[in-house]
Parts: sequence; C-alpha cells; structure tokens
Amino acid sequence: MRIAIVGAGAAGAAAAYGCRDAEVVVFEAADRVGGRVASRERDGAAHDHGAGYLKRKDPRVERLLDDVLDEDGRVEITDPVWTFDAAGTIASGDGSRAPKLSFESGIDALVERLLDRSGATVETGTPVGSVAATDDGPAVRDGSGDDLGTFDAVVLTPPAPLTAELLPDDGPLGDLAEACRGVSYRPLVAVMLGYEFDFDPPWFALVNADRGHDCTWVARESAKPGHGAGDTVLAAQFSPEWTRERDDDPDDEVTAAAAEAVAALVGDDRLADPSWGERRTWEHALPNGAADADAVEAAEEAGVYCAGDWVAGEGRVHRALRSGLDAADRVQGGST
Ligand SMILES: Cc1cc2nc3c(=O)[nH]c(=O)nc-3n(C[C@H](O)[C@H](O)[C@H](O)COP(=O)(O)OP(=O)(O)OC[C@H]3O[C@@H](n4cnc5c(N)ncnc54)[C@H](O)[C@@H]3O)c2cc1C
Repeated sequence: MRIAIVGAGAAGAAAAYGCRDAEVVVFEAADRVGGRVASRERDGAAHDHGAGYLKRKDPRVERLLDDVLDEDGRVEITDPVWTFDAAGTIASGDGSRAPKLSFESGIDALVERLLDRSGATVETGTPVGSVAATDDGPAVRDGSGDDLGTFDAVVLTPPAPLTAELLPDDGPLGDLAEACRGVSYRPLVAVMLGYEFDFDPPWFALVNADRGHDCTWVARESAKPGHGAGDTVLAAQFSPEWTRERDDDPDDEVTAAAAEAVAALVGDDRLADPSWGERRTWEHALPNGAADADAVEAAEEAGVYCAGDWVAGEGRVHRALRSGLDAADRVQGGST
C-alpha cells in the first residue's frame, strides 16, 4: 500500500508511525518537521516557541510514547500552572494534574523520533499544491503543479484553512473543502524573553482563565531541564486581538511591549528589561472547533483521510497525535 501524508507535524508523524508497515512518503512544506511542535536553539539551549508541552492524558498516546520514545532526554514538568484573570489577579492552581512532557533538546524531538521510527520517507521543503480524486486513487501535485504521485491513500494534516486550499471546490472532495473552510483558527504571538538573573516563582506557568487579559500565558521555559539559554527564559503568549494589533510592528517593539505586559502581570519590574527577545506569530495557532465529521468521513471513499487538531476539535498535541493514529487505523482498515 502506498500512502502519502501531507504535513509533518504531530498528526502527520503519528499517522506515519501508525502506517509504518506500508510504503509511506511524508510531504512537508517547511524545511523542518514538527509544525506547531517547534523548538529553536540559543547558546546551546533549546526553547519551545510553539507548543510548550504535551499532556499525558490519552491512554493510546501514552502507549505510543512508551512504545516509541525511550526515557532518554524526556523532561517531565512538575511545577504547577497557576491562573490569572482579566484584572491580572493571580491564583494558585488550575485543577489540571495531568503530567506534562517535553524533551531536553526541544519538544520537536517528539516528532523527529516518531518519523524516524516510522521508516517513512520525509520530503521537507515540498509544499503540496493540490490533491485530486482519480480512478487510480488520490493524485498529489506540488505547488508548481508537478506530479508527486498517485497513491492508495492520502492523509491531509495541514491546518483546516490550508487543507481547504489543496482541494477542488466540487466533485467528491468538494464537501471536505467546504468543511475545512468552516474551521476558524485563533492567531497568537509567542514571545521568548531572556534575562540574566534568576527568577524563581513557585509556578511553572500562569494561564489566563477568563480570556479577558491581553496576555494568555506565561511560562518559565528555563524551568524545563536543558531549556533556556542564560539564567531565566520566559515564554509569553498573547490574545488574538493583541496579536492582530501588532501585526505590522517591528519585532523589537513587540518584544518590548510583551516584556512590559509580563512585568506588570507578575509584579516584577526587572522583567520589563530582557537581555534578548524573539517573536513568532502563529497565524493558525489554535482551532475554534472541529470540521464536520460527516464530510471528513465521506472523503475517505475517495482515499482522502484527514488528521490534525482540527479533526479532533482541540488545539492540543496529544489530540493531534491521537487523530494521526486514528487516521492510520482507518487507512489500513483496522487497528495499528
Ligand atoms: C504558540 C502555541 C502554543 C501551544 N501550546 C500547546 C501546549 O502547550 N500543549 C499542547 O498540547 N498544545 C499546544 N499548542 C497546540 C499544538 O501545538 C497543536 O494543536 C498541534 O501541534 C497541532 O498539530 P498538527 O499536526 O495537527 O498541525 P501542525 O503542527 O500545524 O502540522 C501541520 C504541518 O503541515 C505542514 N503544511 C502546511 N501546509 C502544507 C502543504 N501545502 N504541503 C505540505 N505541508 C504543509 C505545516 O508546515 C506543518 O508542519 C500550541 C500551539 C501554539 C501555536
């Protein structure tokens, strides 16, 4: 069986692993794998500027981690997540006790290891331009219209609006295209802030519980073993409105505004003056819901399967992984 997977994020990697007994090729638009599971390196230390951790919540994903990923380099985050409200009042505890996982070399090691152990051929720097239903199976073309092959099955994992762009508006895949266009995403700017002093509060992260604050999340990246160059690195994320208002602002202005917001929230003036800052805007950060399940299922008749957080209906790494495993089952008509 020849299978193409579009996208090498968490869902694509899990789908590739689930299909490891078949002949699988993964087409990834970027020059790196991981998608929103993303890490960068600075002064020899990693920081995760997309997903900060993976929650150990899904039993099947637990088994995947136990089967595939040895203990080497795993990071378990044990410090608690506290909450804050629209007024910036901080309270201890968010009620979530699920263990949180990253990797010393960065969270993208998760996707790299899955793909490595899947045995799939991974073509990075290869954006898929279209997928069409043919009598011989789904046909895949690149962004220039060049043929990438006709397969027994294709698994589509880019965020829903990007998946929609690959599909024809009519024919057997038209309803899937429509369903993908129906899934909106929240954009989000993530700012990494580095400091040359120790900052050691009792929490790992603060999360805005009522969605009323500009800042949605602040985490101590340097609390994860192997992470964070220098003494303290904070990862801050901001609301869609805050993100959009600063779309055209230069990076240094956005990181300065982020640092001031974090200092005010935490009540520590020193945090307004970082020694370095990095900004990353995620256009399709988190889906607002799931695509219509009937349209997703109907496309499978044409050999076109979907996986990703927008199929699961929640922007979480463990949901994307599970969605990829489930798609692999359906492609192969059984359990992997
Ligand atoms: C800043 C941020 C923080 C987050 N924090 C957390 C967290 O702490 N915990 C958590 O569980 N979740 C978190 N999430 C959500 C989590 O990262 C996502 O839900 C999950 O990674 C989605 O995985 P995916 O495989 O569905 O999609 P993606 O990771 O988006 O993967 C899709 C892949 O498809 C590729 N692609 C797109 N178009 C094409 C094309 N035409 N051809 C080929 N390839 C293409 C993309 O480059 C990408 O690699 C966070 C997300 C963001 C943005």
